[in-house]
Parts: sequence; structure tokens; C-alpha cells
Amino acid sequence: MVKETGFYDILGVKCNATPDELKRAYRKLALKYHPDKNPTEGEKFKQISQAYEVLSDAQKRELYDRGGEKAIKEGGTGGGGNFASPMDIFDLFFGGGSRMHRERRGKNIVHQISVTLDDLYNGATKKLSVQKNAICERCEGRGSRKGAAQMCMSCHGTGMQVHVRQLAPGMVQQVSTVCHSCQGQGQRISQKDRCKTCVGRKILRQKKILEVHIDKGMRDGQKLVFHGEGDQEPGLEPGDIVIVLDQREHLLFTRRGEDLVMSMELQLVEALCGFQKAVQTLDNRTLLVTSHPGELIKPGDTKCVVNEGMPMHRRPFEKGRLIIQFSVVFPQANFLPKHKLKELERYLPEKMDAEQPESMDDDLYIYADLEDCDLETRKRYTHHQHYYMDDDDYASTGGVQCQTS
Ligand SMILES: [Zn+2]
Ligand SMILES: [Zn+2]
Repeated sequence: MVKETGFYDILGVKCNATPDELKRAYRKLALKYHPDKNPTEGEKFKQISQAYEVLSDAQKRELYDRGGEKAIKEGGTGGGGNFASPMDIFDLFFGGGSRMHRERRGKNIVHQISVTLDDLYNGATKKLSVQKNAICERCEGRGSRKGAAQMCMSCHGTGMQVHVRQLAPGMVQQVSTVCHSCQGQGQRISQKDRCKTCVGRKILRQKKILEVHIDKGMRDGQKLVFHGEGDQEPGLEPGDIVIVLDQREHLLFTRRGEDLVMSMELQLVEALCGFQKAVQTLDNRTLLVTSHPGELIKPGDTKCVVNEGMPMHRRPFEKGRLIIQFSVVFPQANFLPKHKLKELERYLPEKMDAEQPESMDDDLYIYADLEDCDLETRKRYTHHQHYYMDDDDYASTGGVQCQTS
């Protein structure tokens, strides 16, 4: 039993979601609400990140399930229930590396790309247009002619200004802020020396077309990293572009690891007497799924065809299984005239207890006909019965009361 569902609701998953379902939900939402793409949704991004941080950790999830958000805030986790920064969670998830590492590098750019199951089966190449910051080529990231930049005198080139505030006698506070004169650049460039291409900004927004090669057997959520293709900043190593595959659902097949799962509906006659059914594979071959006479498929049976599942990543000649879940459609009522039913009966296995009623006295039985029923009416019905039973009890409570008092 879960006390609150808030975190589950934020991620849009059920309370019994598996770790994989949680990952998937986080992946989709985090990319959608990332401040790069949705600058006004910072609060939502934070909530998503906090919900994922708690639910992805088995210990914290258990704590949350038992005591709700309050239990997390009071925190059995030492840090007083502090949440990590949403950006750190995001970077950790999408492989942005540690903070230390990140500070010496430009930002990573994360993109999701929509693929079909066919793409993942056959492999594909997709073109993706990405916007990124690139160092201005004309000025090589100086923002000006060579040697034209002068050290900012307000901050002496540090880009930061330190103010000392006296709070009380003998107590001072040091506050450092970004230098106003140079916007933290540490240098000033006079108007006339500015690079015409980047207007002194040193970087330019650049459109880049990436070719994304999707190998056979790749998975939903798999990341492809383009090293050094992320944002560039003067003096920093460029970041990466991370492409995340997002598989759209397929009408017929569901992937389960290396296996493909599909359902197949059989007519009763096919289930009993055998059948051949064509299945179009993801690479457009036609499989003739065959059940030989006498084989018999029961409703709910699961069978598989080996080597017709998904190809393994990097070993595309090995494939998983195609798993077929069968359902059986029974014929309509009165599909045979009554006298023919007797005939059919002869072919089917004998009824059990068929002889009993005749050997016994008819008066011992109450004949019960079958009516259609749906769950809703049954519920009301049993409720009613309860009511009557209560009434009955009521009638007899007099006696019970007497007994107890
Ligand atoms: Zn320039
Ligand atoms: Zn300055």
C-alpha cells in the first residue's frame, strides 16, 4: 500500500512501475521540460527530477511509499532530505559526467530522436539538425582583432568584483558578483575593434546536421554520443551531443529484450484442426506460422518461433524469439442447428459426469439457467443481497442482544 502517489503522478506512472518504466518516464519528461527547450518550466523540471531521484532509489522509494513526501523531507538519508540539483540528475542520467569534469567543458546537448521498431530491426540512418554554440571562426574566439582586447580595469581581468560589506562592527561579509563593466569577460574591446561576425560575443549559434547511424538491435532509450560536438566556449573543451533513441510503439509487435511478442487470434476450428497464418516480419519477409493438424492450441497458449525476434546489437545474425500469444474465438451462439450439435458431440471428448443426472431423482435438483452478466450489475446484486442479509440479521438480533446482555 502506497501512502501518497504524488511522485508517481508527476512521472505519470503507476505505483507498481518497474525501474525500467520509471527510467522511460523520466527520460521523456526530462527532455521535454529541460530548461534548454522549455525555459519557463523550471519548476516542473525540478519536480520531475526530485520524483525520479526518490523513486529510482529502492531505499528512498520504500521510505516514500510508507511515509510519503514528509518522510523523505525528514530524511533517513543523513543530508536532511536534500535533493540533488535537477541538472546533476539530468547529467548523470544522460551521461554528462561529473561536475568537476563539466566545469572545464562546454555544455552537453541532449536530443531525443524518434525511431520505429523497423529502424531498430533493420538499422537506419537519420539526419538530425542541431543548434549549438560554436567559436567564431573569423576572430578565433577572441571577439576582436588580435591584440585589441584590453584588460578590464574594473575587475583587473578576473571577471568578478568583490564587495566587502560590514554587517556589524568586526563582522564583514564578502560578496563577489560578476563584473558589470565587462560582463565577466575580464577584458574590454573597444567598439571599433569588435569582430564584425560575432559582434564581440566570441561564439555564434550554428546549425549542424548530424548523421545518426542506428545499428541493428539498438534499444529504446539507448544513447549515441557525438564526442566534442556539443557547445563550444573559448578556453573550454567542447561538450558532447547525446542522442537518445525513443522507440514508437509498433502496431503488431512489442519488444521484450531480444524477443518480439505478438498476439494472434484463432478461430476455434483453427485451434482444433491446425492452421497456417502469414505474419509480415519487420524486414518484410512473410512467415507462414503453421500449426499441424492434431497440434491443438488452447486459449492463452504461448508459442514461439526461434530466431525471428530482434537482432542482437553488434551480433545482428543472432536473433531472439518471436513469441506468439494465442486467443481463440468461439463460434456464435446457434452456429449449428440442434440436431447437428448431437453429431458434433460424438467427435468431442466425452462429457464428465454426463450420466449422473439421469441416475438420480429429478426432484433433488434445482435447474439453474445461465444469464448474461457484467461485473457492474453483479456488484449491485451482491450489495443488495448483503442488505437483505443484514435485514435478516436485524430480525434475529433481538435474540443475540438478549444473549449478550
Ligand atoms: Zn568573431
Ligand atoms: Zn571586468
